[in-house]
Amino acid sequence: MMRPSESTNLYFNQAADQLKMPEWMRKLLITPKREVTVQVAFERDNGNVETVLGYRVQHDNSRGPMKGGLRYHPSVDLDEVRALASLMTWKTAVVELPYGGAKGGIAIDPKTLSTKEIERMTRSFVDEIHEIVGPDTDIPAPDMGTNFQVMSWFRNQWEKYHGFNPAVITGKPVEEYGAKGREEATGRGVGILAVKFLKRINVRPDQCRTAIQGFGNVGSHASKFLFESAFPVVAVSDISGTFYNPKGLNIPEMFSYSLKNGNRLEGYTGAEKLPGEALLELDVDLLIPAALGDVVTKENAGKVRAKSIIEAANGPVDPEADAILASKRITILPDILANAGGVTVSYFEWVQNRQHYRWTLDRVRQELDRTLSDAFENVWQHSATNDVSLRTAAFMLAIARVQRATELAGGAV
Ligand code: GLU
Repeated sequence: MMRPSESTNLYFNQAADQLKMPEWMRKLLITPKREVTVQVAFERDNGNVETVLGYRVQHDNSRGPMKGGLRYHPSVDLDEVRALASLMTWKTAVVELPYGGAKGGIAIDPKTLSTKEIERMTRSFVDEIHEIVGPDTDIPAPDMGTNFQVMSWFRNQWEKYHGFNPAVITGKPVEEYGAKGREEATGRGVGILAVKFLKRINVRPDQCRTAIQGFGNVGSHASKFLFESAFPVVAVSDISGTFYNPKGLNIPEMFSYSLKNGNRLEGYTGAEKLPGEALLELDVDLLIPAALGDVVTKENAGKVRAKSIIEAANGPVDPEADAILASKRITILPDILANAGGVTVSYFEWVQNRQHYRWTLDRVRQELDRTLSDAFENVWQHSATNDVSLRTAAFMLAIARVQRATELAGGAV
């Protein structure tokens, strides 16, 4: 299997080939600006000291301060973070936010830690990386395994060194300089784009049977938006398995069940229960992977029966699977566009923090809709004009923008 950064760079190169980009420019754009690995040592509740590794990769800042989430997950390593950091550079460029890309994380399963332990670990991580992040350099945010509470500890610890400046991190609690609508933003963005996409292919929402892998922050909000937009959401899955109803699931009921049940669907009895892997192979119109990366590979791509895929997760389809799905004429709306709603509202949060001004939820939602719609139309047109996949079109637009900013700045080029 390819390493995550190899997969991402392969997608980059497919677009760079179309742009006839010279080798030296590819190398300049692919190579991360800075990669940091730090020791994160913290005290467990029993008094023992735990030592784990933390990472921050700052990929590119030619278009603005670097931006990207913090992931707490056992799969985190330098190569995964490197791949995710570069995806952030292309993502912010596709939706034209004035940012570059970065990503960070800690190699640990937060479910094995108490709340106090996660707090101490987060503060220790900030102690190690506080000098390289800041509102004008690199602005972290939530990702898998982190949430508004982690963002709040991060900000508090960073401010102990540098003084008041909530714009150092986004995805904060709404009561503490967070933006209204940030929590729902990635899932809502997926839903907004699904609606645009269906209009383009002339399919009515009520005819689009949809399966969503993952019922975390992204999957649950995407399900809710699609349910409210009349999509029959026939399957959703989480760590406890797949929940299926060919007539459409009662998503509002599942949403509140999961909230009350520690963000898990385990024990929900309102639907037929299938094994977790079954979701990817269901006979549906639209498949939305909204959990981990690399879930569609050459092993299972042949079994995918959906007509279209929207990549709500980062990197859910690896390049070998991408080629197989293309030969089956399955359309893919790529991650760097499909899940950009989160970082878009992070940008709105950062703007509000810097202006000491609060937007209403309506304004956040309207501007999110506008930003994603413009980006979608651009990518759709570019794909049609150049006769390339939506992924290659999105990468072409993104890397051309980063190349242009790099050339305008001069210096290295
Ligand atoms: N972690 C999210 C992503 O992968 C959001 C990043 C952000 O808001 O900066 O896009």
